[in-house]
Amino acid sequence: MDVNEFRKYGHQLIDWIADYYDNIGDYDVLSKKLPGDILNSLPKSAPEKGENFDEILNDFYKIIMPGITHWQHPKFFAYFPSNTSFESLLGEFLTSALGPIAFSWQTSPAAAELEETVMNWLRDLIGLPSNFQGVIQDTASTSTLVSLLTAREKYSNYAINKIGSAYSPNYRVYASEEAHSSVEKAVKIAGIGADNFIKISTNDDYSINTSELNYAIRKDLMQGKTPLAIVAALGTTSSTAMDNIEEVGNIAAKYGVWFHVDAAYAGSALILPEYRHLIKGIEKVDTFVMNPHKWLFTNFDASAYFAKDKNALIRTFTLLPEYLKTNHDDKVNNYRDWGIQLGRRFRALKLWFVLRSYGLEGLQDKIRFHIKLAEKFENFINDDIDFEINAPRTLNLVCFRFISDSLSNNELNQLNEQLLNNINSTGKIYLTHTKLNGKYTLRFVIGKTYVTEQDLHESIQTILEQKELLKAKVTINSETF
Ligand SMILES: *Cc1c(COP(=O)(O)O)cnc(C)c1O
Repeated sequence: MDVNEFRKYGHQLIDWIADYYDNIGDYDVLSKKLPGDILNSLPKSAPEKGENFDEILNDFYKIIMPGITHWQHPKFFAYFPSNTSFESLLGEFLTSALGPIAFSWQTSPAAAELEETVMNWLRDLIGLPSNFQGVIQDTASTSTLVSLLTAREKYSNYAINKIGSAYSPNYRVYASEEAHSSVEKAVKIAGIGADNFIKISTNDDYSINTSELNYAIRKDLMQGKTPLAIVAALGTTSSTAMDNIEEVGNIAAKYGVWFHVDAAYAGSALILPEYRHLIKGIEKVDTFVMNPHKWLFTNFDASAYFAKDKNALIRTFTLLPEYLKTNHDDKVNNYRDWGIQLGRRFRALKLWFVLRSYGLEGLQDKIRFHIKLAEKFENFINDDIDFEINAPRTLNLVCFRFISDSLSNNELNQLNEQLLNNINSTGKIYLTHTKLNGKYTLRFVIGKTYVTEQDLHESIQTILEQKELLKAKVTINSETF
């Protein structure tokens, strides 16, 4: 492809993307393809000779698009959103065009200094103390791993980096039963061992039970184990339950344990002053992660990781072979030393576009709107005697299920699974589920950038229709239950 063809196809694709966003509501949210469908439509080996770009694009429309689940569809209510915005798409486009590998300041001074700037902006927007320093990682999973590795090194006086597992203080890491799976993964990768990951039970609202946490740490100390770190969840993945940061922080301080906060999803809500109380006690936190790529209109990937002790972070990850030395190393941020990868994408650009184009007020309006829609959905569930709420709604996620007096929990679990499958196979909306306290629970998260109130009403209609169909079937087959 030469530059003129690039110009031609570039314009064409921008138009295609604009049309896609205009008409995205016409697609089935969830792809209807079956396992192997796409694989069987693709050649088994790469082409010998270069192909015409029109033909390649045709196959993209014909083969790839039908196998896409539309994450930016306004009626995608599954998982947590990973929303984009036009500003962010344009930033990403420029990042790929420039293609810098932003590992040292010198490899693109603007990339390093813009990253420092937007991370400071974001820190202040979400109300973290000014002694936190930020760096953009790819995902919250990586951020949490970076946090635990830093804890491991700081608390072992950097011995494990040096001599490996011969230094073995039997570290223990604590998080609630509702913590994200990435925490356990990080514990395993960091060499601490899944058996030393202690899952603490939760309160009725699914937040961590701090007396159980305190008890578990005391017990470990009595048995000669070494409590290393607590990971609190600010917004669990199942139900956005909020661990009490102040209470957990007091326990971390009492035992001198590292304290990481996983606010991957809910962190974005902290730009609203009315939710700032959630991080009361934040000064006791060592590291904090939130994902602009989830609910801050910045397309995947962009995970904002903040650390109070920048030196411990850098000392954990730095290596300075001759070929990486530059003249300014003592004056600048070389972000390769702030995490795992050497090669890093210039992600600050898209975040800068988003923060500037929306402004604080624009971001706040969107997030408040999403929470308001969730409140309306919650009211709908509360007003329908066939449904119940399964967990307190803290932000824009509503956990609910179908209920019927005459049915056992097992029967209800089966029925709710069926309801979910029926709803999703309409193609009109997409929800996922979780289990809370043994109850099969449907999750409804409203956080797409361009979702409207009309989308909500239509989605409620879809849910009602499917519920009525299911109810009719239950009544007919009532003797089978
Ligand atoms: C989504 C999520 C994660 C994982 O985020 P990635 O960026 O995909 O690694 C971790 N913790 C919580 C609470 C989450 O909601």
